[in-house]
Amino acid sequence: MERSLHNATRMRSVTRPLLLVLLAACVGEAPPDIDDPEWEDESEVEGIGNDEAALNADMSAGFTIGAKLRVCGADGLNQRAGAGAEFAVQAIIPEDAEVIGLERIDKWVKNDWNGTIGWSSNNYLCAVGAPAVGTPGTPPTTSGSESVNRPSAGSLRNAVRIGEHPGYVVADTGRAATYGTAETMYWLGAAFDHMLAEQPTAQRPQVRDISVQAGGRPAGAWPHSSHHSGRDVDITYPTASCDPTTGCRLVNVSPTTIDATATWLLLETWLTSKVAHRIFIDSSLYPVLRTAARARGYTNAQLAQWFGPVIMHVSNHLNHLHVRFRCPADDRSCRP
Ligand SMILES: [Zn+2]
Repeated sequence: MERSLHNATRMRSVTRPLLLVLLAACVGEAPPDIDDPEWEDESEVEGIGNDEAALNADMSAGFTIGAKLRVCGADGLNQRAGAGAEFAVQAIIPEDAEVIGLERIDKWVKNDWNGTIGWSSNNYLCAVGAPAVGTPGTPPTTSGSESVNRPSAGSLRNAVRIGEHPGYVVADTGRAATYGTAETMYWLGAAFDHMLAEQPTAQRPQVRDISVQAGGRPAGAWPHSSHHSGRDVDITYPTASCDPTTGCRLVNVSPTTIDATATWLLLETWLTSKVAHRIFIDSSLYPVLRTAARARGYTNAQLAQWFGPVIMHVSNHLNHLHVRFRCPADDRSCRP
């Protein structure tokens, strides 16, 4: 059993790049430029396009990035510093405790146990049913804008262009991706209003790509697998000091350079209003964000509803965060 899982995992990692190259060749698109600092591929967590079968296969194998897992069949499960029995034990996770799966290499699962991140044996981690994340909040108004189909294969009608705000700088990425739904613009504004109200000294992040006016994948360089339907927004992380005119730059942050409180204030608006479908963030930033959230009174149970089910690790999100809003209730052909 374990052997076949192992082989399936290995086969997937070998065949997928080939499939992607073939697919790109078929539709006449240049292969993605993975050296682009804004290159994003959420297919590992979203099952985008042809990767859907691979993702489903992985789920049947009992592991999905961001999934909650429970310690089962062991009184205490070692959490080690690396993916192997030769690495030091850094924590012992009690039976029935829940962790968030971050990555798997063979039988080792990188997991997050209340902020302690390490590697444990997959043999003692069982799947947990998906937690309820609540019903989506009511959109502020019905609107003329329409998010159509999926973020990775969709379009946008009657788009709204992002407005100015004292809390952010709209970056010129050269891609004219400054359009989204009316709801997206509302929730961007609400989050930055909240950030400035709670922390008036917060620096101004850059709002980078959202979608182009008609949505879809525009001609030319497009470093995203999504951003098609007006609901995806890239935002640089607030840090302690940013240029007031050009905003916080597109550079990798760390747990010590990120302004975790200001970042959390943005997330807080979307999470408590239940309008965020996904938020992609590098998991190395989870501990400081959790600390910022706890300082504002959120419980571990609340954080468990958000870190994993909504906030997910996707690589290349150390220099910006990506929020994807839920489908507006009045957008009938919007798909998650
Ligand atoms: Zn993005």
